[in-house]
Amino acid sequence: MKEMYDLIVVGGGPGGAIAAKNAAELGLDVLLIEKRQEIGDPVRCAEGVSKICLSDHIEPDPRWICADLTGSRIYSPDGTMVEMSEEMSGGEVGYVLERKVFDRALVDQCARAGAEVRVKTRATGLIMEKGVVCGIYAMYLGEEYEIRSKIVIGADGMESKVGRWAGIDTSLKPTDMETCVQYLVTNIDIDPQFCDFYLGNEIAPAGYLWVFPKGENMANIGVGILGSKSGDHRAIDYLDKFMRDVYPEGRIIEMVYGGVPVSGPIEKTVSDGLILVGDAARQSDPITGGGIINAMEAGKIAAEVAADAIKKGDYTTDTLNEYETLWRSTIGKEIEYSLVVKETFIKFTDKDLNHLAQSLSNVNFYSLSLKDLLYALFKANKKLLWDLRGLFRDVVNNNFEFKYKKNQFD
Ligand SMILES: Cc1cc2nc3c(=O)[nH]c(=O)nc-3n(C[C@H](O)[C@H](O)[C@H](O)COP(=O)(O)OP(=O)(O)OC[C@H]3O[C@@H](n4cnc5c(N)ncnc54)[C@H](O)[C@@H]3O)c2cc1C
Repeated sequence: MKEMYDLIVVGGGPGGAIAAKNAAELGLDVLLIEKRQEIGDPVRCAEGVSKICLSDHIEPDPRWICADLTGSRIYSPDGTMVEMSEEMSGGEVGYVLERKVFDRALVDQCARAGAEVRVKTRATGLIMEKGVVCGIYAMYLGEEYEIRSKIVIGADGMESKVGRWAGIDTSLKPTDMETCVQYLVTNIDIDPQFCDFYLGNEIAPAGYLWVFPKGENMANIGVGILGSKSGDHRAIDYLDKFMRDVYPEGRIIEMVYGGVPVSGPIEKTVSDGLILVGDAARQSDPITGGGIINAMEAGKIAAEVAADAIKKGDYTTDTLNEYETLWRSTIGKEIEYSLVVKETFIKFTDKDLNHLAQSLSNVNFYSLSLKDLLYALFKANKKLLWDLRGLFRDVVNNNFEFKYKKNQFD
């Protein structure tokens, strides 16, 4: 490890890896540190991801693709099923990854692009001079290091400390996060081409339960509930009940716990000498909790802004604000829209959810465009969805196009 770099990236998840890779490709001298000894392990993810957006960052590789999906099915509390094509299903449907292998492939790319990678290296604080971030304190094999850089990117995930060290408020209330638990289940009869989502207050209060296939007879089955709803019943109680009711023959061979920020955008993601990306910046989708693609998109933008700032020799908030502008006008818009939808949906009773699903039972989601879908949805449920009328109008008028639906609008 040297004493000085252009850029230090803290965290070797998708956000950090893509930031480091792009920055190295743009000619920066980059250090990526990861506190764990093995990139991508332990996994804290259901591993679903949209194909279209993924291929903007990495060439698909069968070594990290467990399932290639054609669509998704959403089940309302009374069992009404709505089936959708992959393109209509959102950012988490496309491939089901093997994240341990995927995350390592991303970091492999960043190392090959020229970034220095250090595992088992934990950031313990920020070096700050007159309020400006100019490096990190790090712990590697029991020894403390001071490593300086022109810019630090904090990509240290859900439990991020980097932002807090720089005085950015990243705190989350229980209503701002989903608590999740997931089993990897084998010996089950599933359709390997479809993701299933189950909604309802009995199944997953203010959240959902998912079944993401990982090849033949195997799936990630998990549940996320809003932190504020985890009173007497924990997420695992809901999951165990579902397993007993729906997959009693299933055998659990792995277990994952984790939190997902669903707070929507935080107020500020840069300060002098610092940029936050991914879960550290609370950039995951408030409805689905999906954050892989957003972390990668943000990582790329952060790298480009950092490279420009370094070229100019100016690492102040004024210059790094370009990152705020760029991510908020792209992924940030989707996150904001999702937040509005989430706030509406968590108020729905099971009866409302059944009504919504029933109103869609004759609609063909394989041939409709997103605009047609929203129109059909709104027309049949005007009273229920009145709070979302502005959002529907925006999308229908084509003022904003959801990125992962971009092929439909091209
Ligand atoms: C149960 C569950 C299911 C999910 N399912 C999906 C899904 O299906 N699809 C989807 O898109 N998203 C899903 N997500 C969310 C997704 O996993 C995250 O949004 C995504 O991993 C965020 O990437 P990131 O790079 O920002 O952070 P992370 O992937 O969390 O990476 C952060 C990295 O920083 C490291 N780190 C932390 N602190 C330090 C430090 N001090 N020093 C050095 N390194 C540090 C961590 O070890 C970690 O490797 C799920 C999350 C959970 C919990």
